Amino acid sequence: MASPVKDKKPAPLPAPNSDFYQLLETLPAEELEVLKQVRTFMETKIAPIITKYWVEDAFPFEILPTLKELNIGGVAMQGYGCRGGSAQLFGLIAMEMARFDSSIATFFGVHNGLAMGSIYLGGSEEQKQKWLPPMARWEKIGCFGLTEPLVGSGTSGGMLTTARRDGDTWILNGQKKWIGNSPWCDISIIWARDLADSQVKAFIVENKATRGFKVEKIQNKIALKVVQNGLITMEDCRIPEANRLQQDQSFRDTARVLKMTRFMVGWEATGCAMGAYENALKYCQERQQFGKPIASFQMVQDLLSKMIANITASQCLLVRMSQLQAEGKMTDAHASLAKAFTTAKCRETVAWARELLGGNGIAADYNVGRFFADAEALYSYEGTFQIQNLILGKAITGFSAFV
Ligand code: FAD
Repeated sequence: MASPVKDKKPAPLPAPNSDFYQLLETLPAEELEVLKQVRTFMETKIAPIITKYWVEDAFPFEILPTLKELNIGGVAMQGYGCRGGSAQLFGLIAMEMARFDSSIATFFGVHNGLAMGSIYLGGSEEQKQKWLPPMARWEKIGCFGLTEPLVGSGTSGGMLTTARRDGDTWILNGQKKWIGNSPWCDISIIWARDLADSQVKAFIVENKATRGFKVEKIQNKIALKVVQNGLITMEDCRIPEANRLQQDQSFRDTARVLKMTRFMVGWEATGCAMGAYENALKYCQERQQFGKPIASFQMVQDLLSKMIANITASQCLLVRMSQLQAEGKMTDAHASLAKAFTTAKCRETVAWARELLGGNGIAADYNVGRFFADAEALYSYEGTFQIQNLILGKAITGFSAFV
């Protein structure tokens, strides 16, 4: 007779779950439903095709009709045909997207956060009425042009793109580099220095209708390969005064947009780390070496534990940031701390994930290599780690260390 102890089937292995502290439970039921729809979209429409597009450096335009149906355009913005909802919902959508693919999360963040956010925060009532509804319906897709070929971190004081007033129009000259969505989108928010008062101002440029506005796609990227980044060249582009964002007077207004979107990059980085962790954990449960699953080895468990700790710490930090944002208390330094910490933890986490896949960690087919590469861009864009720490350092010490 067989021993009952011997016949006992092993318990099923726990499914990889990067929401260890049940973060999703903090959302109200209606917002959780939206998030579940985003998850289904990412699972069914993005996950099966994303590696192919990533390898080919191409954007999957066929997803746009289904994305429109999700009705998440203008999330966390009130009125003007926008989706509305909480800042935390916006963040969790970005996190959920990045959990599958950081490029799609970035595409969403550039359009919904940087481009729509610039108009929402800096536009006149008339400008918001005109531009936000078609953007919320994804009929007009936007980008955000701040960085230049020769001036990146130093755009606050050193921006070279100029704007000169000429009657009812402005004449823009200069270049913008790395601008996400720009090779194919409809409108660009272009930041330029007014030659009259030296202050930075923002302009809504209609890409195709503007003479002298040229975009070249940036080739051969090793990260966020699905997002199409462009080098914009403007030669005597005439922009009507009606397209200058009326409430923006200086770089302080640019910083208001960046405060919101840096916080969003924190959510994207956390989602990127989550995707890498879940893929790596599943791999470790299945992969056998020395006759055992590698997940049963102590040193492997040490890495997996440190990964989920990084992710959980980042998530909790971002939930508190959402509360501060909702209460109107989020400062530039708060946003900088969140961006610097979460992207650094993401970078550490995806590197451990890649390590746990051994050689397969560098093959695009196993997903983790994509998360690993994409984390590098999240770490550097929208203000590098050093720049965030300089903003934070100034706030906590009272001394500006900017040169
Ligand atoms: P630099 O400013 O040249 O910095 C190089 C290095 O020097 C960094 O390590 C930096 O931290 C360090 N450094 C610079 N100054 C200091 C200092 N004072 N003290 C200490 N260290 C310093 N921009 C847009 O406007 N719109 C977009 O849509 C957009 N999308 C992007 C997408 C991708 C994939 C990438 C890679 C970039 C994107 N960017 C975009 C640009 C991005 O914001 C810049 O790359 C970033 O701000 C850094 O600027 P830089 O690359 O010119 O680096």
